[in-house]
Amino acid sequence: MTFSRLRLPLPGMELGHVNVYVVKCSDGYGLIDIGLATYEAALSLLRGLKALGIKPSDVTKVYVTHYHADHITLAQFLAEVASPDFHIGEGELRHVASSFEELAKMYAEEYKKHGAPADVAEAFLKIHPMSRYRKAFEDVWKISWRQVRDGEKLDCGLKAVSTPGHTPGHTVYVIEEGVFTGDHVLPRITPNISWYPLPGFNPLKEYLNSLGKIRIDTRGFPAHGEEIANLTTRVDELLKHHHERLEEVLSVLSVPMTTYEVAKKITWDAGPFDQFDVYNKIFAIGEAYSHLMYLEDVGLVEKIDGEVIRWRRVSRRTAV
Ligand SMILES: [Zn+2]
Repeated sequence: MTFSRLRLPLPGMELGHVNVYVVKCSDGYGLIDIGLATYEAALSLLRGLKALGIKPSDVTKVYVTHYHADHITLAQFLAEVASPDFHIGEGELRHVASSFEELAKMYAEEYKKHGAPADVAEAFLKIHPMSRYRKAFEDVWKISWRQVRDGEKLDCGLKAVSTPGHTPGHTVYVIEEGVFTGDHVLPRITPNISWYPLPGFNPLKEYLNSLGKIRIDTRGFPAHGEEIANLTTRVDELLKHHHERLEEVLSVLSVPMTTYEVAKKITWDAGPFDQFDVYNKIFAIGEAYSHLMYLEDVGLVEKIDGEVIRWRRVSRRTAV
């Protein structure tokens, strides 16, 4: 084994933990993802490294899979105790270049336009990780990130593979033994595929395409949960899940509906939509939206513009 796994806590997040992988590099050590900006996670990172006999200053490289809080916000903490080169997928930060206020407004307006009650859209902004970890995110934006390209060979025996979908610039890292999959492929849950304020970005279309890029008979080392024994098997399960969901979205669209109404009608593994907390409601709305965008792109539904946007089924064809 040429790498080790640290399991860092995610206080206040349902997922419970994030896996940070430690790889050997020519000039020290590299980390795949860093963790959440909290006291518990910072302590756990330092203790984990110590147990491996690694001084923080031995960390010379950081490769993050995507910009989400649980993967990246501990970056500045590490920058204070070490001087690693920070790497991220090309284009990952392009939709967050504007101010937080602007971004927050764009999200709230979009969700309202898609039928979400104002209280859902606005409550979301207060509890969104970007607000909760705002200071850490501001520090993250200040770091000079080296952007890695699809297929680029990196130090530490890694190769970057661009896998947009969960985020616009999500990147996985291939090593001899398998793939560090980030949130692109997880062993038990399906990663959230949601709308991004990025014109022309069709998240589900990109995601399904990105799944194909790592449909290989090898092991997966995810950011959450245990090792995936065979990526092909798990990728096929995820493809099946989304194809079934596309069919379900088509089948609930008996009359024109908003994205919010579609989200309420879909069956969710976590239970009925009405019992979700506001955060999971927003996830569900985003998920319904990404499926509707996909169906629009393949000509099966169309958007009816208005003060509130509705979707109409325009073909009896099925999605697959
Ligand atoms: Zn994520």
